[in-house]
Amino acid sequence: MKITDIKTIRLRASLPSEGQVHSRSGVRAFRSALLVEVHTDEGITGIGSCSGNGMLIEIIVDRMLKHLLVGMDPTNIEEVWDKAYFRGGVRALGSRGIGVVALSGIDIALWDIAGKAQGLPVYRLLGGAKRDRVPVYATALYPDKTETVVKTAVGIREKGFRALKIKVGFDLAQDIEIVSAVRKELGKDFTIMTDANQGYRIDAAAEAAAAFGGLGVMWLEEPLFMEDIEAHAELKRRSSLPIAVGENLHTRYAFQAFMARNAVDFLQPDVARAGGISEIMQIAVIAEKYQRPISLHTWGDGVALAASLHLSAALKNSPIMELDLTHNPLRAELTDWPLEQHDGLMTPPDGPGLGINLIPQALKKYAFSGPEEITLWPEPVAAR
Ligand SMILES: [Mg+2]
Repeated sequence: MKITDIKTIRLRASLPSEGQVHSRSGVRAFRSALLVEVHTDEGITGIGSCSGNGMLIEIIVDRMLKHLLVGMDPTNIEEVWDKAYFRGGVRALGSRGIGVVALSGIDIALWDIAGKAQGLPVYRLLGGAKRDRVPVYATALYPDKTETVVKTAVGIREKGFRALKIKVGFDLAQDIEIVSAVRKELGKDFTIMTDANQGYRIDAAAEAAAAFGGLGVMWLEEPLFMEDIEAHAELKRRSSLPIAVGENLHTRYAFQAFMARNAVDFLQPDVARAGGISEIMQIAVIAEKYQRPISLHTWGDGVALAASLHLSAALKNSPIMELDLTHNPLRAELTDWPLEQHDGLMTPPDGPGLGINLIPQALKKYAFSGPEEITLWPEPVAAR
């Protein structure tokens, strides 16, 4: 089999005002996706997803990676990855960043092709299911009036979830008040995670970690600027609360550096950013050596979510996966497989490959070709 073409599909869905998310990066009024389709001479097409600036990824795929990879056997996934990364991408695009994001989508599409060619779901190609159903936690709690956040938390529990994540990193006193109120309402047995999106300076992070630890929180995610591995290691020396990092890290090398310096507990690679399915399997090998669990980050479209489900089903040490519950038509309307949870559990699609098909009407409805906005983040929160 040979790769004959690689196409990109850019999508954007505007969100109604009640579905907009108020996060550290401001109000999110739309959701975007960049999908790739890898075509072959045997009529099999693979689908993948890249999580990043669609305008740039499109250029990288169309003008660089496509020319490098057309003609290769798509089922020689490692050879394709190595050519695109080590020989074709690293020197021109950097060893981490947007080039790795572009490659992530192509890699996912190659696994989709491999599964379709063999008539097997991707998780079977990854060594088989370690679990039939994947435990997921809900990401839907953004800062608001405390009683509003508590009400949303109760709604999530009523949907069947047993775990949820609260966004923090805005104001230390408010963060602690909200986490405390949600814990009080949901009781001690409900699993609660916190996520600062790199929003604290070290002293604030230590204070937050001490408070959240006292409230039985499972982890504090992205407490600090993600390039500062030493600061994460220092935070771990100052606090016993587990630290989660990874949604903004690319390749096994970034994850290994965190593990080698004892700067992380839970690893959170994103399949559409870190280097695809292949690279997360590489990260898993290193994680096994350091005995660190993997809890996949998911945020985005239905293709990325399906790929994450296959991985989460197959990974050995992966206790729980993220499920973004905020309003997103590109997750809910894009594929023909219902990506839904029941009692806080999800099942990977069991058809060949990723087991999903894109819905043409959705691709038409959300087609987009404009520029991408640049988001400005506020300064991190300092200690009181
Ligand atoms: Mg996060």
